Amino acid sequence: MTPPQQFSALKGVQDIFPPDVHLWQKVESLSREVFSLYGFEEIRLPIIEPTGLFVRSIGETSDIVEKEMYTFPDKAGRSITLRPEGTAPVVRAYIEHHLYNLPSPQKFFYSGPMFRYERPQKGRFRQFYQIGVEAFGAVSPLLDAELLSMLKILLERLGMKDLNFEINSVGCGNCRPAYRTALRDFFSAKLGSLCPDCQRRYEANPLRILDCKVDRCIELRAGAPFITDFLCSECKDHFEKVLSALRRLNIPYTLNPNMVRGLDYYTRTAFEVTSEHLGSQKAVAAGGRYDRLVEEFGGPPTPGMGFALGMERLTELLRETGEIVGPFPDVYIAPLGERAIMEGFLMAERLRARGFLVESGYDGSSLRSQLRKANRITARFVIILGEDELSSGRAKWKNLGDGSQGDVEIRKVEEFLASASPGKPR
Ligand SMILES: [Zn+2]
Ligand SMILES: [Zn+2]
Repeated sequence: MTPPQQFSALKGVQDIFPPDVHLWQKVESLSREVFSLYGFEEIRLPIIEPTGLFVRSIGETSDIVEKEMYTFPDKAGRSITLRPEGTAPVVRAYIEHHLYNLPSPQKFFYSGPMFRYERPQKGRFRQFYQIGVEAFGAVSPLLDAELLSMLKILLERLGMKDLNFEINSVGCGNCRPAYRTALRDFFSAKLGSLCPDCQRRYEANPLRILDCKVDRCIELRAGAPFITDFLCSECKDHFEKVLSALRRLNIPYTLNPNMVRGLDYYTRTAFEVTSEHLGSQKAVAAGGRYDRLVEEFGGPPTPGMGFALGMERLTELLRETGEIVGPFPDVYIAPLGERAIMEGFLMAERLRARGFLVESGYDGSSLRSQLRKANRITARFVIILGEDELSSGRAKWKNLGDGSQGDVEIRKVEEFLASASPGKPR
């Protein structure tokens, strides 16, 4: 016989199991609910995509593409990448299936794992989960405000507080070149002091210097010009209309002219939702417009906008702000003796068919240990079935919530539980 061998999960990934998984399910189901109020429908996409999709959309010089992608050749030698984000795959599907022929705007949401080869640290995973939305075909600044409002409603319904909506405009292809030049002028005298990454960014995409997390670069960028001073009149007008709609919706926001977002494809509105509770990696959600991306991938000119929520951070915040509420059994059936085990087994199935959440004993352990178990799993009722109960046709019941007890005809247990549990059977 081969000796047993124990395996551990890979570095930077995690298992999600009860009771924590209830938080995840809560986020997922509430998101669906809120997104559907706004007409977003689910799109399910592959986890693997051709590498070029991300290189082209996120940008060759981005940290994600340069350092963090899970890229490997498949057996036929094609370069495959585990998706590091959701927008590019949605755009790919939108174009591939000619979804632009359907009435605009088209609105989608997705949820699932993303992959980045990062140095594992607290709250950062190599396989992490995102829920995101993408809307295509609406150029109106009201869409920007609507997405932010939807996000706010979702986060509030999740019970989150102390949220900041940071917003900026990153301009468009018409106004960004002048800003890039102004940034290069600003950093030219400091070039040698910037971190090696930023020295490369200086040529390739100086906006990314504003995103750098290195202390020295943060100091050096004090006094750098703001993109909002370089916006063309169309971008300026769009941004002002977004902000005015946010004010009409009473959504408090902070202008953050340094937030340029690390991805190449953003245009105009960019935003992040942060919380003071999360320290340096504090964004729970981020997104923006990408009005040129569909066209760059061969589709018709189509404005787009979306955001993604980080599930790990969201569930971490929820863990702090509320308790985990799992599905508790309505009833635990405690059978005593061979004959009662079979009767209890059949009763459990009858109750489940009526919509009750039922646990029951299988192994004939003592009443005491079965009651202890019922308490541990927070069952609401216990039904006790022993030889005496079977002969008399009446089962004992106990309400573990208020301590009341009594007996009930075995064939009327369903009615009894239904009348004692408002809203049940479902
Ligand atoms: Zn512009
Ligand atoms: Zn730097």
